[in-house]
Parts: sequence; C-alpha cells; structure tokens
Amino acid sequence: MNRVYNFSAGPSMLPEPVLRRAAAEMLDYEGSGQSVMEMSHRSKVFEGIMNRTEQLLREVMDIPPEYRVLFLQGGASLQFAMVPLNLMTGSKKADFVLTGQWATKAQKEAARFGEALVVGSSKDETFSYIPELDPKAFHADADYFHICLNNTIYGTRFTKLPETGEVPLVADISSCILSEPLDVRRFGLLFAGAQKNMGPAGLTVVIVRDDLVGRAAENTPTMLNYQTHVDNGSMFNTPPCYSIYMCMLVLEWIRDEIGGLGEMKKRNEEKAALLYDFLDQSRMFRGTVRKQDRSLMNVPFVTGSAELDAKCVKEAAAAGLVNLKGHRSVGGLRASIYNAMPREGVQRLVEFLAAFEKANA
Ligand SMILES: *Cc1c(COP(=O)(O)O)cnc(C)c1O
Repeated sequence: MNRVYNFSAGPSMLPEPVLRRAAAEMLDYEGSGQSVMEMSHRSKVFEGIMNRTEQLLREVMDIPPEYRVLFLQGGASLQFAMVPLNLMTGSKKADFVLTGQWATKAQKEAARFGEALVVGSSKDETFSYIPELDPKAFHADADYFHICLNNTIYGTRFTKLPETGEVPLVADISSCILSEPLDVRRFGLLFAGAQKNMGPAGLTVVIVRDDLVGRAAENTPTMLNYQTHVDNGSMFNTPPCYSIYMCMLVLEWIRDEIGGLGEMKKRNEEKAALLYDFLDQSRMFRGTVRKQDRSLMNVPFVTGSAELDAKCVKEAAAAGLVNLKGHRSVGGLRASIYNAMPREGVQRLVEFLAAFEKANA
C-alpha cells in the first residue's frame, strides 16, 4: 500500500488511526453484526452513535448548554440559504464581510431574502487580506452579521472577531472547525461542512444558540427550518449515518490521541510555520497573503510563472504530494494542511519545494 500526502482543500485527508478503526469495524460494529452503513438510523446502536457524536463535539469544542448541535445535509452551501430563511425575519437586514468566494456566495444567497449589506471587503486585492472593519458602519438593527472565519480559497483568516454588540455573529467555519479552540459564546450560529476537518462529505454541522431557533418565516420548507431538526434530534429524516459515525471517530482521535483543541492548535501552528518560514526565505516561491492574516489551514503560494507553477504541481504529484494546484480563481499552488495532515507531510513538501527551487533556479 502506498498512501500519498493529500493537500486537497476538501474532501481531504482523514487521520490514519481513524481510517484503520473504521476498517476494523466495517463488517461488525461493536457486536451488532452489521456495518454502520447498513443499520437503521432508528436503532439503539445508531442512536448511541448520534448521542456520542454530539456529546464529543460539545466536550471538544466546549459548547455551552444553551446551544443546539444539529447534524444536517446540503453542505455549507445550503446554510447560505438556511441562515437567512431562519434569521433574516426581523428587520430583514444582515451585514456581510466579503473576504472571499464563500462569503460572497453567502451574501448573494441572502440577498434573495432581504437586504444583504456589505460592511467590509478585500476584493480590491484579490481577497489577500482581512479588511479593517469600522463598527460605525455596522447596522445595529441587522438580524445577523456574517463572516467566513477561514477563507479556504484565498488563505486568510480572522484573528480578531468583529464587535457586533447585540447582533448575532454568524460564522462559516467549514475549513477551520476543530483546528483550534473557539469561544462559541461569541457567536449566535456556527456552521461547517464536514469534509474539510471533521470527516467525509455529506454531513453539515450547525451550532445555534437556543434563542435563534423558531424565528423562521412562515413559508420556510420544513426541512430548512432549524426548529424541525431541533425538535427531532436531527432525525426528522434519515441523517448521513456513516458520515456522523466517521465524525465521531475523528472527535475521539482529537480528544484521546491529540489531547484536545489546545494541543491541536499547537500542532497546526507548527506545521503552518514550517511552510510559511520556507516561503518567506525562498527566492522562487512566495505566499500570496498579508502576513498577519495568514490561515493555519490553507496556504496559497506562487512562483510568479504559471508554467513553473504547473511544473511544480505535476512533479510534486509524482513524488506523492498530491492536489497542490491552486484554486482556479487564484492560480499558483495551495497546500491545505488540515488537522489530519501529519507534520511529516509538510516537512516532505518543504523538502520537495526546496529541491524544486534548486533544480529550476
Ligand atoms: C468548502 C467550503 C464551503 C462549501 O462547502 P459545501 O459543503 O461544498 O457546500 C463553504 N464555505 C467554506 C469556508 C468552505 O471551505
């Protein structure tokens, strides 16, 4: 067996111990005589998996009791519609900071339901920084304030949260959930697609403060109303059972093998520093993001020559370092180094890039 280091932005690597455990439990989950893929979602065994996953997420993320945890489908992209359908029902205004493609998509979708107001943007410089925000520009009567905490495509992240006062802060945390501790109390609602840092695709996690549930417009489709999923323990219909089970294994790995999010953060900072330090001293490669706004998870970089970029991506793949091609809207290269990417993978990448630089100088 020859496993590669996969730098894909998502779906992405899973921790090897998690994959091994899933393999070992594939035919017979805990004496049930079945795979988790085969069992009824109404069975006692699956109910146990569901409860345990929620409990683990609460423990690992330190989620306060006044927040509901929902296991949904439709990806982060469906949340771009569900959030306004459920929350944009008072003044029908919401504030948005445009820090990349995902925030822009969220703003465009919300504009179908109300006034989606832009209070900051870094579009002028290809989203290569987090804009300075002026709280005087925020709308005090907005139903919520939306940010994308880590920008998967452009490789920036908020290190300081906007001060939104009474207005609930909503954050898309698809590409940074579980990468470091997060003060959940600062937010009204958090959502994430699982396929970056939590497990396989098909599962979307929503963490929502109690008082924000039950505000949906009258004609909101049943499946798109948070209340439905709160009332039914995320089991109104068949949930993405196997993805939830894999998420449970990932959470156990973070808690029991890594030692929690504080430790996870330390590892992620070390990995990111390895790569950024290399880029900063390189005469061929350079990071595309303003230093203080650099993401720990997604690292875009360029040589300055599209031809050389392509050559580098191709040769890296041949060396077992795959999916380094930058997003089509940015070009160049991008290394996504989520939780499951081991330090050795980043070390190997840096060694490869140094050798490539020497050979192509
Ligand atoms: C990947 C990603 C999305 C889209 O997620 P889907 O699950 O494919 O809908 C949205 N926001 C961010 C920040 C992402 O990284």
